[in-house]
Amino acid sequence: MERASYLDKLNDNQRAAVTFGTGEPPGPLLVIAGAGSGKTSTLAHRVAHLVVNGADPRRILLMTFSRRAASELTRRVERITAAALGTGIAAEALLWAGTFHGIGARILRDNAAAIGLDPDFSIHDREDSADLMNLCRHGLGLSQTASRFPAKSTCLAIYSRKINSEAPLGDVLRDHFPWCAQWETELKRLFGAYVEAKQAQNVLDYDDLLLAWAQVMADPGFAAHVGGAWDHVLIDEYQDTNRLQARILMALKPDGRGLTVVGDDAQSIYAFRAATVRNILDFPGSFAPPADVITLDRNYRSTQPILAAANAVIGAARERFTKDLWTERASAERPQLVTYATEADQARHVVDRVLEDRETGTTLKEQAVLFRTSSHSAQLEAELTRRNVPYVKFGGLKFLDSAHVKDLLAMLRLGRNPRDRVAGFRVLQLIPGVGPKAAGHVLDALDLAPDPRAALRDVAPPPRSGSDWPAFVAAMTTDAPWPAALDKARDWYDPHLARLHEDSEARRGDLDQLAQIAGGYASAEKFLTDLTLDPPDATSDQAGVPLKDEDYLILSTIHSAKGQEWRSVHVLNCVDGCLPSDLGTGTTDEVEEERRLLYVAMTRAKDRLSLGVPQRFYVTHQSRNGDRHIYSLRTRFIPAGILDRFEVTHWSPARVGEVPRPAPAPIDIAAQMRDMWA
Ligand code: ATP
Ligand code: MG
Repeated sequence: MERASYLDKLNDNQRAAVTFGTGEPPGPLLVIAGAGSGKTSTLAHRVAHLVVNGADPRRILLMTFSRRAASELTRRVERITAAALGTGIAAEALLWAGTFHGIGARILRDNAAAIGLDPDFSIHDREDSADLMNLCRHGLGLSQTASRFPAKSTCLAIYSRKINSEAPLGDVLRDHFPWCAQWETELKRLFGAYVEAKQAQNVLDYDDLLLAWAQVMADPGFAAHVGGAWDHVLIDEYQDTNRLQARILMALKPDGRGLTVVGDDAQSIYAFRAATVRNILDFPGSFAPPADVITLDRNYRSTQPILAAANAVIGAARERFTKDLWTERASAERPQLVTYATEADQARHVVDRVLEDRETGTTLKEQAVLFRTSSHSAQLEAELTRRNVPYVKFGGLKFLDSAHVKDLLAMLRLGRNPRDRVAGFRVLQLIPGVGPKAAGHVLDALDLAPDPRAALRDVAPPPRSGSDWPAFVAAMTTDAPWPAALDKARDWYDPHLARLHEDSEARRGDLDQLAQIAGGYASAEKFLTDLTLDPPDATSDQAGVPLKDEDYLILSTIHSAKGQEWRSVHVLNCVDGCLPSDLGTGTTDEVEEERRLLYVAMTRAKDRLSLGVPQRFYVTHQSRNGDRHIYSLRTRFIPAGILDRFEVTHWSPARVGEVPRPAPAPIDIAAQMRDMWA
């Protein structure tokens, strides 16, 4: 067979990875290489190559870190196969492309009966989980105010870290939450109660999707059943997986046959969620014979000055496996370090620059502004809105946190799983006259019923619920198909929305937007799962219509920007206290992770990169020291001399080190205006 043309575009190592071992179930393969070296592109080509050579796309499992990344990979595979075969594979053929958590939810639901789960389980997001943790804490009398017991979100963070790292609780406390170490006994009790509550309520939290999956995979028969569904398992961004994920993977393909993982240890940025770079470093030795390792050394993304700056930042890292990359993309334009007086100056100047670049031919979509924490884009968003510049913020759909949206989602959840107490307390108390006590009675009754959905119809109405109760029950137990079930919930909720909120008109707009998103889903379950695991993007358009055909600027946290690239990238707040963040315990490991974060940010840029340093920086994100201004310094990660330095005061760029220009003569504008009438 003549060589497929898509192979010609690859370099030798990429081609070796793409064609590695096809023909029989190939042995395990690791591709480890720096940013922009074509790892994701190689992975897409490999999937396409497998399909072109006869692999069944329905028997390929493709996992990466976000739904966006998964669907981009799928689209790329489709394009390559279409070009090679004349006909593409249908989008639906790659049935199994997604995130670990999303795929986990599917496996657990599909096999619920076999593993003793109720298939209607609800999935709690972090906030719901923290609320349930709180209910348990109160149940045990571990009140925060009386004893300074850790806050609910801290309890959840400790729990989550323990689950995902599979480390003993004592170690987790000592290493990551030393200020909570005195509470070890109480925390153990609390976590026990939390797990019991989840089971009684038929609820899984985010971590359970991995934990339960990993646990059932310990059964060899079940593991063979699940693993046998796929001939090939391919994973991108493997450096950001945790021990549970590695365990799942090894159980899926114990001999490593059909397994391909790609990643870059220098871009590992999820240790704070218990990801461990050991997974990628230990991968080859996990098999006998060991996995093949292919490295890539040419960067195709960034210009030489950008790559040199990024290499200088990561070059000072304590440990690193991947080597520096080289590029043929020469450019005279060096990345810039821009100093501003305030964050407001930074926001104004960045918008100026973005618009200038658009004038000279770089569309908004080819530009991105990145930041450490979601809240750091507030001033920028305000400035963009003021100046009518459309934007999309990755994963930033804010209204998901607002009361009215949560109310409606809780109704959907309760309708499917009336044992979900967090949803139950929220929804039942929407009914006038129903307080926590009455809600608790209803939920207790549902708890005991063999069929809680049927029981919801028959349960005694709470004492003062009045005429609203029958309508409520009808809305919650409707047999209307999806998405009409959502309309039923909305119809019941609408008068309450008006009663509870003065700005109910605006909130109705949010619910319209939610309904629009819901319309794109085949079932309530898929809709709720996606919304919980991977929130949609926010858009600057108030109507909330996705800005599909329009040009818009990308705003993203650095974490969500992983794997992406833009012609021009602005990184906000490159100051000590923000990058590295001062939130953690400040251990060397944590600081090193922040260095890799900056490396990830810088390596997103193809042609232009600017790093912003506001000198007065407001720390708003749940700092343990409270909100405050800090007078900041440029991040310690940027060595002197690798960037062009600019200073923007009053936001007109003036080059640092230029010959100082004489100040213009003062003007007395008031006198001039008076003179006009003299
Ligand atoms: P990251 O570490 O950031 O995830 P990556 O290693 O996955 O990066 P890709 O995103 O796959 O890198 O590729 C970076 C860019 O280089 C893309 O625009 C891609 O199309 C381009 N590229 C990759 N390989 C080649 C090649 N052989 N020839 C030309 N361009 C290439
Ligand atoms: Mg990639």
